[in-house]
Amino acid sequence: MTPQTLFYILIGIIIAKYLFDTFLNALNSKHFNDAIPKELEGIYNEEEYLKSQNYKKEKYKFSILTSTFSVLLTVLFFVFDGFAYVDAIARNISDNSIIITLIFFGIILFASDFITLPFSYYNTFVIEEKFGFNKSTVKTFIFDKIKGWLMLLIIGGGILALITWFYKLTTTNFWLYAWALIAVFTILMNLFYSKLIVPLFNKQTALEDGELKTAINTFANNVGFKLDNIYVIDGSKRSTKANAYFSGFGSQKRITLFDTLINDLEIDEIVAVLAHEVGHYKKKHIIYNLIMSLVLAGFTFYILSLLVGNNLLSQALGVEITSFHIGLIAFGILYSPISEITGFFMNVVSRKFEYEADDYAKTYSNADALISSLKKLSKNSLSNLTPNNLYVKMHYSHPTLLQRILNLKK
Ligand SMILES: [Zn+2]
Repeated sequence: MTPQTLFYILIGIIIAKYLFDTFLNALNSKHFNDAIPKELEGIYNEEEYLKSQNYKKEKYKFSILTSTFSVLLTVLFFVFDGFAYVDAIARNISDNSIIITLIFFGIILFASDFITLPFSYYNTFVIEEKFGFNKSTVKTFIFDKIKGWLMLLIIGGGILALITWFYKLTTTNFWLYAWALIAVFTILMNLFYSKLIVPLFNKQTALEDGELKTAINTFANNVGFKLDNIYVIDGSKRSTKANAYFSGFGSQKRITLFDTLINDLEIDEIVAVLAHEVGHYKKKHIIYNLIMSLVLAGFTFYILSLLVGNNLLSQALGVEITSFHIGLIAFGILYSPISEITGFFMNVVSRKFEYEADDYAKTYSNADALISSLKKLSKNSLSNLTPNNLYVKMHYSHPTLLQRILNLKK
């Protein structure tokens, strides 16, 4: 194969992925006006339903705009040897391959984030604002960006530097070391995410004594679940959308409730949502997810180790010196069809886990309360009640509202 052929293959993959995503989005948009299934009637009144449809349409148009812009930018960057240009800048600054890699990715990631900044600003302060979701201020928005960049710099930069170093030391075997590093990092993140990362962006407070806490403790005692760590997070700082999640394991396990969730739902509904989260834990989903992502990471690093040293990858992107960072970019694109497939299967498993967690909530809490909470949450986030089947299969980590209700009513 010539570098030229590989270049066209890379461009082909980028465009094919864009076309496929655009096709799926268009397919999904064809169902925006479908009749609402009988089980979902009454969630919206007429005015709210109209609003939810406008929200979907606006989001859809916006996604076409952003994805088209980003694919055009990417293709132009390829055609005009952008990677070779950035590579030359990095090589001018240092001779050290680790520092070159860091500067190279630093420039690319920072520049692309900066260029797409107007889109994320528009999304938050125009679209989300218009539909009443946005609670974020420009100040919060800017600080979030800066904190995000700093985290990327420290955590992302640290990991990238170590992986480049492993590659320099061991070449073919580097994937084993990189895998071990990611495994340790993933487990630590799972354990300490709520303690280390969340506080940078949100305030968390232990759930106060009161009716809700008593109801939660009663449930926890009934199912023999030791639950000392229930936290409330100020999600309302950014958006009215509500959520709840489980994190950590062992002594670090905790449940986090958005303050918006507590505002929107009745006590029995919150307990039902919590029962669903406890279901994830009891059915060992947290551990299974961790194992799956580690196996997948190992597989990805192994394939990377087979390809990254090939000088074709660098030459295809217009760089004569075979280099790890250019290899990583080319690999990222070559691997993206595989990650579509693995992503598809991860979603299949995730939806299965959601059913299991719902079943757990049905057995140990209250199916009707969970149904009414799911309906309220869907209504308050103006969610799509009639998504397309194929779109759901590709993109949904949760079953649709209809599927979940039918399962809970079984
Ligand atoms: Zn769940």
